[in-house]
Amino acid sequence: MSLDRAQPATERDSPDPAGKVNILLVDDRPDKLLAMQVLLSELHENVVSVPSGKEALRRLLREDFAVILLDVNMPGMDGFETAALIRSRSRSEATPIIFVSEIDPADNHVARGYSLGAVDYIQSPVVPEILRAKVAVFVELYRKTEMVRRQAAEHARFLQEQTARALAEAEMQRMTFLAEASDTLSTSLDQRQIFESLARLLVPRVGDLCLVDVLAGKGGLHQVAVAHSDPVVEESLRGLQCFAEENCAVQVLRTARPVFCDALTPDLLDSHFPQPECCEIVRGLQPTAYLAVPIFARQQLVGAISLLGTGGRVFETRTLALAESLAQRAAVALDNARLYRRAQDARLEAERANRAKDDFLAMLSHELRTPLTPVLATVLGLTEQEETPASLRPHLELIRRNVELETRLIDDLLDLTSISRGKLQLRLEVTDVHEILAAALAICRPDFEARALQVTCALQATRTLVAGDAARLQQVFWNVLKNAVKFTPPGGRISVSSWDSAPNGLIVEIRDSGFGILPEQLAKIFDAFEQVDRKNFGGLGLGLAISRSLVQLHRGEITAHSEGQGTGATFRIVLPTTDAPAQASTGQLVDVPVSAADGLRVLLVEDNADTNASLTWLLRRRGFDVISAHNVGTALALIDAHGLDVLISDLGLPDGSGLQVLAYALGKQPRLHAIALSGYGMAEDMQKSRDAGFRHHLVKPVDVQKLEEAIQLRDAVPVRHAAGAESAAQS
Ligand code: ADP
Repeated sequence: MSLDRAQPATERDSPDPAGKVNILLVDDRPDKLLAMQVLLSELHENVVSVPSGKEALRRLLREDFAVILLDVNMPGMDGFETAALIRSRSRSEATPIIFVSEIDPADNHVARGYSLGAVDYIQSPVVPEILRAKVAVFVELYRKTEMVRRQAAEHARFLQEQTARALAEAEMQRMTFLAEASDTLSTSLDQRQIFESLARLLVPRVGDLCLVDVLAGKGGLHQVAVAHSDPVVEESLRGLQCFAEENCAVQVLRTARPVFCDALTPDLLDSHFPQPECCEIVRGLQPTAYLAVPIFARQQLVGAISLLGTGGRVFETRTLALAESLAQRAAVALDNARLYRRAQDARLEAERANRAKDDFLAMLSHELRTPLTPVLATVLGLTEQEETPASLRPHLELIRRNVELETRLIDDLLDLTSISRGKLQLRLEVTDVHEILAAALAICRPDFEARALQVTCALQATRTLVAGDAARLQQVFWNVLKNAVKFTPPGGRISVSSWDSAPNGLIVEIRDSGFGILPEQLAKIFDAFEQVDRKNFGGLGLGLAISRSLVQLHRGEITAHSEGQGTGATFRIVLPTTDAPAQASTGQLVDVPVSAADGLRVLLVEDNADTNASLTWLLRRRGFDVISAHNVGTALALIDAHGLDVLISDLGLPDGSGLQVLAYALGKQPRLHAIALSGYGMAEDMQKSRDAGFRHHLVKPVDVQKLEEAIQLRDAVPVRHAAGAESAAQS
């Protein structure tokens, strides 16, 4: 049997796993130690034997013992000294000590031992039963004490856990409430509604009466929300100025700090609610607690929330913290509402400016077109006149080309306006892309020749029918070809090719050997007004933007590719094809053979003197019987006096509108063929003409050729409109 059997217990509250308690035997004589150990082994506890007081103290530093059996007579540190030191340490001050001594316990010396904390004496030689019985009592006592201590610790831990859980739950509820509050507050973008939601959130959950006041000029207060669970009380307080401006129970607004009062006396109540009417109502509610917190928006004090607890409700500091958190959330909601309002105002302003820009562009193009009509008409007339000298013809051609170019620029501006308004309309029919491409190439041929460009064509697509607007697709091809010419130096190459693309489409590729496009510019060239070199090449930078929109309206795609400067550029247009043959297409437009002009009485109503004179002259030269008027009055008189077969009328006239002339003429001649002339070419302008009964709507400057075609389409229903003009015929 070892002298030192007990496992050291490092923690006071970690009992021996076997449930045994420690008993310490201290004696310098090994035989006595052994004897006692044997005697106590029947108790089935841990018996630890040490040979000296010093060793006993060392063990007591680390372990707890149910009882210590201490020999009184030991060499060096005797039992009394050891006992004194054991008592002096807090860990062992209450450990029972039984002295084992040869001295009779009745002896007076024994008193010393008791004074040093001995709980008992055992006379040596020990009587086994007495020894075991005494030790067993202390072992039992130790067990009970340990159990009580453990239970107390567990109870304390349980209470601690419960408190922590209650706090966590309260915090969770607070956070949920605040999150819900944020949601509620952010649903409105109106300041008053935000404050009303705020008051409703606080009552009755946090307080019984809530008033929200905001600063209203010159430091005054203005009530913006009131909430009480009784609607009658709420109504009686609504709109009342509860807080006098000079007193301002809401010191909050003066100090920008919260006011908190959890014991509301009548005096305090008077100071918080100085207005008699308001004070009376509030008194009737028997308030017991009051708090007010400031509301800041963008670091500016904007108002205060006042909260009243009634019927014994008390406010705690966390009530104040909650009210402050809500005030902060209301401030955020107010700020969002302000930003939203500002964004909305900015959007409305941008929309207004955009509309103004569109209207301006429409008017500008009208004003720009009007003077071009007589110029173009006169040039055409002079070209057709045999007596015009040959030396003048190149100059006339130059004027024609430039007027047409200017018309094109104006058209581009108008197209862009229509696209941005989403009002560009396509006249869809089944049409052959190769034919359209050929027409675009034909228009560009003089330019190819002028710059000695080598043009090759390899049109290999087998599916070439698309459901598209031929004029608009031609505009796209022409734009890309015109750019290829413009950006390719004289003598360069342009190749045009086409092939089928899977599953149902075709690709048209226009490749040039010109200046090419830098990679960083490639992404931008399809944006309106984007140009790489405005100075040297002119233009408005609209062609590709319009082309892309037109191709997209055809459910196709246009892309550009270039290896960089000096490497040329490649444009690809992908279009979805259709199987329907051209002649089977619905809504297909039909040409009508040209009839003779002779004998047709045409009334031309145009207030612009130059345009009127030149068109009259040109139409007469084509064999029409033209009578002309400059205003509505004269036009009606001429209709009465002469009758007419065809009416050509400007829409804007000094004394009225072309629509009035048409209405009058249709009254006289229901099958009248009427053509509107206008500087306005937007879809809605054309629709207006169509609704009034005009069969065609020609946009100025008017090409006499197209005007003549429109006249000769008289009686043809439906009609194909001349290129560049819109047919107003109903099919
Ligand atoms: P515009 O030609 O009137 O300037 P576009 O919209 O047709 O307007 O073209 C936009 C820009 O794209 C041009 O200014 C030019 O910088 C670039 N670009 C278009 N086509 C080519 C091309 N074939 N080669 C080089 N650059 C081109």
